[in-house]
Amino acid sequence: MRAIRMHTTGGPEVLTLETVPDPVPGPGQVLVRVEAVGVNFIEIYQRSGLYPIALPSIPGSEGAGTVVALGEGVTGITPGARVASVAFTGAYAELALAPADALVPLPDAVSTRQAAALMLQGMTAHYLACATRPLAPGDTCLVLAAAGGVGLLLIQIARRRGARVIACASSDDKRARALAAGADFAIGYDAIADEVRRLTAGAGVALVYDSVGRTTFEASLASLARRGTLVLFGQASGPVPPFDPQELNRRGSLFLTRPKLGDYTATRAELLERAGDVLGWVADESLRLTIDRELPLSAAAQAHTLLASRATSGKLVLVPSLEG
Ligand code: NDP
Repeated sequence: MRAIRMHTTGGPEVLTLETVPDPVPGPGQVLVRVEAVGVNFIEIYQRSGLYPIALPSIPGSEGAGTVVALGEGVTGITPGARVASVAFTGAYAELALAPADALVPLPDAVSTRQAAALMLQGMTAHYLACATRPLAPGDTCLVLAAAGGVGLLLIQIARRRGARVIACASSDDKRARALAAGADFAIGYDAIADEVRRLTAGAGVALVYDSVGRTTFEASLASLARRGTLVLFGQASGPVPPFDPQELNRRGSLFLTRPKLGDYTATRAELLERAGDVLGWVADESLRLTIDRELPLSAAAQAHTLLASRATSGKLVLVPSLEG
């Protein structure tokens, strides 16, 4: 099969298209023909060496496609079924393995390209809005990188829960996209806390969703209302330096959490519930999915460059059947 492999950490150029042996499903595993791959920021952290991984490696964990073969002991799923997962080993490929219990069946109304674009960012937006500190009517939240893949979905789910949303993004075009997704206000990165205080009559917001990290952490803390919650869920600008918990006390008994999706899809029931919700909302068109672009597998390096350079709004999808 064709797959993207990296033999060393480094820039996007370490991602190369190679022909490698087809994977064989072991006990409890399922082999899937990957029709669409979701590109995620974590693969940039792994490629650059920020998050350590074993090498050589085929990147990617998110994808959707058709079941080809079952490993020993797998029941309840048949070859030909349309499935998606965020737990593939090496999704940047024509074929990939996932544990059977990490696969989610797809409703007819959702294509494999949509599913690959939705699963990871959609379930992330879901747990951020519904489970870290569940948003409720009357809450106002601040969403950073609001026109990104997670951001556009998070705005919609926050609104769905009755919250008001202040969106922060780096350009007029991105701010317009955040407003079109339902944000009540859109601001830039200059003077974030001042803007938030201005828009909340001085009170600050109940929640900040910060995936930018190093460059925004201080402004995020300064934007919170008393007893507010900072949900730091990414570090697109780099890791946040060590932090004194006493700051949380000084600034108004704040809460800080640094969550990850795996802990909010820890059981099969929770995975199916979260995936079922977001797939259902896309199927009934109450959640709008934005696919920035679809690229061939051979353009994986280009996809990383686009995502890391803030040039995208919405999801990047690799499609193995596209010629590149
Ligand atoms: P996005 O589509 O949001 O792309 C990243 C965005 O971050 C950019 O478009 C840009 O938006 C903003 N950004 C701000 N500063 C920088 C910078 N220095 N370099 C690059 N981008 C920057 O990506 P995703 O939706 O895939 O992911 C969003 C974040 O969520 C990532 O940090 C990711 O790690 C995190 N994440 C966390 C999960 C978890 O469970 N903890 C799960 C999934 C994602 P702008 O130009 O508007 O600033």
